[in-house]
Amino acid sequence: MNVLEDKVRQKDIQQFQSDLITWFEREQRILPWREDQDPYKVWVSEVMLQQTRVETVIPYFLRFVKQFPTVEALADADEEKVLKAWEGLGYYSRVRNLQSAVKEVKQQYGGVVPSEEKEFGGLKGVGPYTKGAVLSIAYNKPIPAVDGNVMRVMSRILSIWDDIAKPKTRTVFEEAVRVFISKEKPSEFNQGLMELGAIICTPKSPSCLLCPVQRHCSAFAEGTERELPVKSKKKKPGIKTMAAIVLTDDDGQVYIHKRPSKGLLANLWEFPNLETQKGMKTEREQLTAFLESDFGIQAEISDLQGVVEHVFTHLVWNISVFFGKVKQVSDAAELKKVTKEELEEFAFPVSHQKIWKMAVEAAGVYNSAAR
Ligand code: SF4
Repeated sequence: MNVLEDKVRQKDIQQFQSDLITWFEREQRILPWREDQDPYKVWVSEVMLQQTRVETVIPYFLRFVKQFPTVEALADADEEKVLKAWEGLGYYSRVRNLQSAVKEVKQQYGGVVPSEEKEFGGLKGVGPYTKGAVLSIAYNKPIPAVDGNVMRVMSRILSIWDDIAKPKTRTVFEEAVRVFISKEKPSEFNQGLMELGAIICTPKSPSCLLCPVQRHCSAFAEGTERELPVKSKKKKPGIKTMAAIVLTDDDGQVYIHKRPSKGLLANLWEFPNLETQKGMKTEREQLTAFLESDFGIQAEISDLQGVVEHVFTHLVWNISVFFGKVKQVSDAAELKKVTKEELEEFAFPVSHQKIWKMAVEAAGVYNSAAR
């Protein structure tokens, strides 16, 4: 018998299920995606909730399912509109994968989200967590849905000291949840674990005295709830210094640029920008040379207007922001010229939304930036 099996065997699993599910049914928060069990909506909510807080997701979810209420609606939607609806949520590959997957659902499964593990798990972007969450919540299948929250809760319940930052540790917890999960109410069980992690068994100060499964919890008994889970520190993110420019012409139209179709923030729009180097040339000089060499643009460029910082998981962007007036253009085919009203229709990453906000707020300054 391995150590995990031994730990699991010492628990009263039925009582644990009953305590957790009774509490969840009584205490669960009212959330829009819990109003019905439409598999498509459950799926959308689970994709949105990855790496994003519930309060942030609610308005996005409501807008998204209003705009794309069915698998067909999302499958047939223009990618530009889908990205726009996701604008600000970040991790855009999630929504791109979701759209590819619903296209497959439309074509292969007649628009019905498949309920079998193999079929649903084979769709683009559907990893083990999403598979377990959607199939258990929407179709009542007893499949584990293990994310960081659930690992935290189960590491404490069972006193598991494996490092949850390591990808292979997830399978340890999946194995544990597979044994613990209620076969009668897997939806309530999985949601109960998630809810417990969100509101009671929180990372820094778990509310053990209010916890419905306290009597089953090894960490509480041992006084180690604040030491668990074990999570090794990530490497510090790298820093990239950049300069970006909000460029307008005499008619007040703005030049924007589409990011490549692969890689970070693929297919989103941005203001012309470059990575800057420390050295002899100022950022403004580097920007001037970049506009000329890459787009054949000569512009009068303002002084530095501010700095926008954006933190990704692995990288920090420090963007110096400038405004400018175009004086001459020879080859700006790589750029698109739009009015300020049209610009609102394009999806920008958060950092460039901040840049645009800066330009709008300083409209007086920026209109005369190059005088
Ligand atoms: Fe978490 Fe405390 Fe409950 Fe254990 S008793 S599951 S540590 S909140």
